[in-house]
Amino acid sequence: MNNLKNIPSIDEMLKNERIKQLIEVYQRDFMVDVVRSATEELRRELFLKEEKIKKEKLMQAILVKVEHMVSRLAGGSLKEVINGTGVVLHTNLGRAPLGKGAIDYMVRMARSYNNLEFNLEKGERGERYGHVEEVLTRLTGAEAALVVNNNAAAVLLGLNTLAREREVIVSRGQLVEIGGAFRIPEVMKLSGARLVEVGTTNKTYISDFAAAINEETALLFAAHTSNYKILGFTQEVPLEELVKLGQEKELPVMQDLGSGIFYDKDDWGLREEPAVKRCVAAGVDIVTFSGDKLLGGPQAGIIVGKKALVEAMKKNQLTRALRVDKLTIAALEGTLLEYLLGSPKKNIPVIEMLALSREELREKAERLLELLEMRTEGLSGIRQLKLVELEDMVGGGAYPTYKIPGFGVEIEFSQPGLEKAAKILRLGSPALLTRRQEDKMLLSVRTLLPGDEIKVADLIAGVVQEKGDI
Ligand SMILES: *Cc1c(COP(=O)(O)O)cnc(C)c1O
Repeated sequence: MNNLKNIPSIDEMLKNERIKQLIEVYQRDFMVDVVRSATEELRRELFLKEEKIKKEKLMQAILVKVEHMVSRLAGGSLKEVINGTGVVLHTNLGRAPLGKGAIDYMVRMARSYNNLEFNLEKGERGERYGHVEEVLTRLTGAEAALVVNNNAAAVLLGLNTLAREREVIVSRGQLVEIGGAFRIPEVMKLSGARLVEVGTTNKTYISDFAAAINEETALLFAAHTSNYKILGFTQEVPLEELVKLGQEKELPVMQDLGSGIFYDKDDWGLREEPAVKRCVAAGVDIVTFSGDKLLGGPQAGIIVGKKALVEAMKKNQLTRALRVDKLTIAALEGTLLEYLLGSPKKNIPVIEMLALSREELREKAERLLELLEMRTEGLSGIRQLKLVELEDMVGGGAYPTYKIPGFGVEIEFSQPGLEKAAKILRLGSPALLTRRQEDKMLLSVRTLLPGDEIKVADLIAGVVQEKGDI
C-alpha cells in the first residue's frame, strides 16, 4: 500500500524531462493518455508487491512503460510476416502478397490524383467501375463485370439485386459455412432473399430444383463448397443442367465460385482448368469470386456475367456501400494485366508459389539449409538441421485442406525449446511463422518470398544466440 502512495502523479510525470521531449514529438493529449495508462498499469502490478520501492524507481518504471507503449504504436500495428508455413493463401496472414506490377501501379495511383471517376476524353464525370471491366470481360469471356469490396459483398449484392423479397433455390449440400465467418444462409437473410433449400445434405438432383420453382422464384444459386478440386463444375447438380433449367424457366443462375482461377496451364501442380471462364462459357448468368484467393490480387469481390444483370447491380444503392477504392482497383487491374499481357507464373506470387516444380522446391530448400548451416555454425542451440519433404496447402476459404507436396527444413532446437523459439520468431522483426511437427520446427520453402531465405537464417541464428548471450 505504501507503494501506491508513492506512485508519481500524472502532473509530476509530465514535468519529467523525457516526457517533455516526447510531448515535443507527439501530440500532448496522446502523451497524457499514455502516461495515465502506464501509471495505471504500474498501480495494478504494485498492488501485489509487499516490499517498498523508492519513488524514483517507480518513476523509472513508468517511463519504461511509456517508451514501450509509444514505440509499439509508432511502429504500426501491421507487421511484415515471413510465411514459413507452406500455406499459400492464409487468410490470417493477409492472403495473397501482390506482384510487382500491381504494387507499382497502386503506388503511382496512391501518390497522385487520377481519373477514378473522371472521363478524360469527354472532360466529364466518368465511371469508377469502368477501369477493370474491359480486362475482366476479356479474361473471362463475360459480357460485363463489377468489382466490390470482397466476395461476401459480391454474393450479398447479387442476391439483393436479383432476388430481394423473392425466393432463391439452393442445394442443401451447399449451405455450409465457408472460411470461418461466411455462411450462405446468413448472407441470404441479410440480402432480403428467401432461401429455399432442396435435396439432402449429400444428394441433390436437378429434379429437386425443378420441383421447387414457382412464381416467387427469382434465382437458382450454386456455391462452391467442399474442397479445391471440385471447384464448381462437378457439383452434385452439374452446372450445365442448372443452366439449362434456368434457361427453360427464364430464371438467372448465379454461381459463387469462391476462388477465381484464370491461369489455364495445367502444369502448376493443381491440374485445374480456368474455372471462371468455364462457368461463363457454360452459360452461368452471374459468377462471383475473390480477388485475393487463387487470383493472387488484392481483397476484392469480382462479379462477371450478363450485362443486364450486372448493370442492375451497378444501380443498386448497396453498391455505393460496398464499393472499392482506387488502390484496390489499381492493384486488381495490375494483377489482371499480368494474366492478359504479362507472365502470371513469374509476376503473381501466388501463382509462382503454386507453380514451383519439385526440383525448384528442393533447390530452394537446399539453399535455405545451406544458409542456416552457415549462420548457425558453432552455435550450440541447434541440435539438428535437416532437409525434409512435407505437405503444403493451398489454403484460403473454400479449400482449407487441399494438400500439395513440398520441401522444407526441419529444425531441432536444444536451447531454447521449440515453444520459446517459435515465440521469439513470432515477435521478431520481421515476424517468422513456422510449423511444428512433434518437437521439431518445420520451415516450408514454398511460401518464402525472394530474399526471405537470408532473413530466415538470420532470425533463426538470432534465436539461438539470444540464449547464448544470457
Ligand atoms: C472465400 C469464399 C467466400 C468469401 O469470399 P471473401 O472474398 O473472403 O469475402 C465466399 N464464397 C466462397 C465459396 C468462398 O470460397
